[in-house]
Amino acid sequence: MPRHIVCLTFDFDVVSIPIARGQTTPTALSRGEFGLVGADRLLDLLAARGLPATWFIPGHTLESFPAPCARIHAAGHEIGHHGWTHRQPAALSPAEEEQELLRANLAIEAVTGQKARGYRSPAWNISAATLDLLITHGFSYDSSMMGHDYLPYFARRGDQAPLLDPFVFGAPTDLLEMPISWSLDDYPHFEYGVTQAGILPGLSAAGGVLQNWIDDFDYMAETHDWGVITYTFHPFVIGRGHRMKILARLLDHLSAKGAIFMTMEAAAAEARTHLTGPTSDA
Ligand SMILES: [Zn+2]
Repeated sequence: MPRHIVCLTFDFDVVSIPIARGQTTPTALSRGEFGLVGADRLLDLLAARGLPATWFIPGHTLESFPAPCARIHAAGHEIGHHGWTHRQPAALSPAEEEQELLRANLAIEAVTGQKARGYRSPAWNISAATLDLLITHGFSYDSSMMGHDYLPYFARRGDQAPLLDPFVFGAPTDLLEMPISWSLDDYPHFEYGVTQAGILPGLSAAGGVLQNWIDDFDYMAETHDWGVITYTFHPFVIGRGHRMKILARLLDHLSAKGAIFMTMEAAAAEARTHLTGPTSDA
């Protein structure tokens, strides 16, 4: 019996992104503030359909906006780790990374009663130290890499990528990777932005993006008996009216095709039974 699993994930960044980028003018902050509006709409939508989701929440959001975070937990959704600030781990020292892990885990524990089982890097760029830190601090899975689209895999430690010699894979760890993709993330499709690094055009027509997201699920259903597809949404992005409407249409399609909606923690646990690796019997 095929099982096509869908993880709906929401990165609840609110104002942590502009603050991490030094964009603290009132307009820049208000752009993130809209995430509070979007989160309410999304929680209503998920409740109306009875769907579980995973919310990756920075410690900054948990400490700044405790009420919506409590609502997320009360609704039965998983809360995953998303740093304390929204600085990418690759830009931090290992000691700073560990401080972020510990501080945000305390904030998560204050809401849920337990530390996070899963981690997603802010800005999707982990460092050479991140995996070891996640293992040391008891995480079950990471969701920050892009090595597959439908099959979770065991994250590797110590890949070697010299400029003038061949690439060498490192050894797999017991940390499960729940892969992501920019194409399955609402942010680059929709968000317009100008930075010193360049212009992110965004503002794509929603119908075209919906078709991409539908086709990625359908391809999994056509080519895999078992697989997981992970969609990444940001409340301040997907929460706009025309985007809420395509999200509802996406959920209609997935439901009609027999998708199995799971939290990422539950999907990761099931994935371990499907994989060969360090603890495939775990
Ligand atoms: Zn984020």
